[in-house]
Amino acid sequence: MKKIIIAIDGFSSTGKSTLAKQLAKKLQYVYVDTGAMYRAVTLYAMRNGFINASQFDKKKLISDLNKIKLHFVFNESKGFAEVFLNNENVENEIRTLEVSQMVSQVSTISEVRKKLVEQQQALGKDKGIVMDGRDIGTVVFPNADVKFYMTASADKRAKRRYKELLDRGDSGITYERVLKNVESRDYIDSTRLDSPLTKAEDAIEIDNSNMGLEEQFDRVYSLIVSRIKD
Ligand code: C5P
Repeated sequence: MKKIIIAIDGFSSTGKSTLAKQLAKKLQYVYVDTGAMYRAVTLYAMRNGFINASQFDKKKLISDLNKIKLHFVFNESKGFAEVFLNNENVENEIRTLEVSQMVSQVSTISEVRKKLVEQQQALGKDKGIVMDGRDIGTVVFPNADVKFYMTASADKRAKRRYKELLDRGDSGITYERVLKNVESRDYIDSTRLDSPLTKAEDAIEIDNSNMGLEEQFDRVYSLIVSRIKD
């Protein structure tokens, strides 16, 4: 069967990664979570004191970019690839609310985007890939074979994220804080100058506010199968 590139974009917590993982498993494709890459760069900036709640030294981060090496390693038991920052597995650490609160600022920097987009394009050169993010169908793979654009209400998304954080055992989290973070990331991600989140003209929009995971998967998968056969 012909191998294709599947691009999934959308606001935070729209279930992009859940869908991407299901598709990659079914099609035996590689799944790349590009949000994890921006989160890992953010973690590096936080650890080195370049960014905190009150300041962000962009210049220092930009001059350190060549010291940041990212790679993915497939975790057999989890069924997806985990992200490594300078050879350290940071998959858990990048999912905290603290990282979520800084990541959109880091993602506005063109130098950061350029570095990560190059790496993402290299990962997709052999096709057979499902990639999710904010600019996959518009910037990373404008010629992707199938593009999805996922949406859901901010309230639904914040509830999903809140539950995920509670399940991880994160303390001091409230639904209101999570909702505020979701709304603030929506705003920054869709209004930034470089590669803002926007629906590609040829993307298929999926609003899953009231859709179960199985129904969503079946719809998306049958669309993909029809493209693979084209
Ligand atoms: O997908 P996730 O919510 O983990 O992404 C975290 C953040 O990384 C987003 O809010 C956005 O600021 C940034 N991002 C991006 N471009 C991508 C993927 C993620 O700017 N392709």
